[in-house]
Amino acid sequence: MADCLFCKIISGDIPSEKVYEDELIYAFRDIEPQAPHHIVIVPKAHIESANDINCENSGFVAAIFEKIPQIAANLGFAQSGYRVVNNCGSDAGQTVKHLHFHLLGGAPGGKMY
Ligand code: 5GP
Ligand code: ZN
Repeated sequence: MADCLFCKIISGDIPSEKVYEDELIYAFRDIEPQAPHHIVIVPKAHIESANDINCENSGFVAAIFEKIPQIAANLGFAQSGYRVVNNCGSDAGQTVKHLHFHLLGGAPGGKMY
């Protein structure tokens, strides 16, 4: 997607602080962190939101969740714990229309919503 911010981050057209990458997913530090460690994890396919996950593309989502423990361990907060958040649509405040999961860790979090 030519005008998608996260597609541009994946391609390297927009710089980011990468913490993990493989053939299916890309993970980088959020520019406006909401926790000591705030990582954004995206599929390397332009899926607009959680509403667009289906049996054709759910492998990307599985790949993200399979790698979350490793990313958390690498950054040192797997044992202390973390939160995984997906914002879908306007009521949830989704600002970038490329499916992504926020991985938040490094300190105790607040209530969920
Ligand atoms: P959303 O609000 O859509 O769930 O999450 C989008 C996230 O992308 C926000 O937390 C925002 O801070 C982050 N973000 C927006 N633009 C950039 C950018 O250019 N670089 C990085 N690293 N994060 C960004
Ligand atoms: Zn995209």
